[in-house]
Amino acid sequence: MKPVDLKDTDPDFKDLVAEKIGLEVIKPCYTCGSCTGACPVRGVVEDFDPRRMIHMIVLGMKKELLSSDLIWFCCFCNSCYEVCPQGIRFSRVAKELQNMAVEEGYVKDDFLKGMEEINGHLQDLCRRTMFKKVEKGFWGPHKMSCWQKITKDK
Ligand code: SF4
Ligand code: SF4
Repeated sequence: MKPVDLKDTDPDFKDLVAEKIGLEVIKPCYTCGSCTGACPVRGVVEDFDPRRMIHMIVLGMKKELLSSDLIWFCCFCNSCYEVCPQGIRFSRVAKELQNMAVEEGYVKDDFLKGMEEINGHLQDLCRRTMFKKVEKGFWGPHKMSCWQKITKDK
């Protein structure tokens, strides 16, 4: 990560995100990287890193995060939540970052329309990548219904 210029940060950002998702605080992240290791999107989009995005929230890097394409790549599978020792549900965080990006004018209307069209492909990519992780034995029994169904006879 490049050096953070404090004048571009918003120290209230982490509190705002916590409030939006109904928490008092974003619990301290250990930066253990379990979320990043479990994330199926990370498997195909190298820059996508939930650990890094949580870290950016804590540092107050609001503008950089809300203007980033990466917040739109989460497919809300909750695999990261299942392995996070701090119980951080990144899918909810990602959804709120997306809402904030829209509310604060970081994206245009036609971008949202484009997202609607590719969302099915993103979900499919997510499932396929997770299935590959299961096949490689990276991942044990899991609650994710979308691929539990696929793997039940394996
Ligand atoms: S799994 Fe949780 S504690 Fe570990 S890096 Fe990810 S968000 Fe932080
Ligand atoms: S919810 Fe988002 S960040 Fe978490 S594992 Fe799934 S795609 Fe990755």
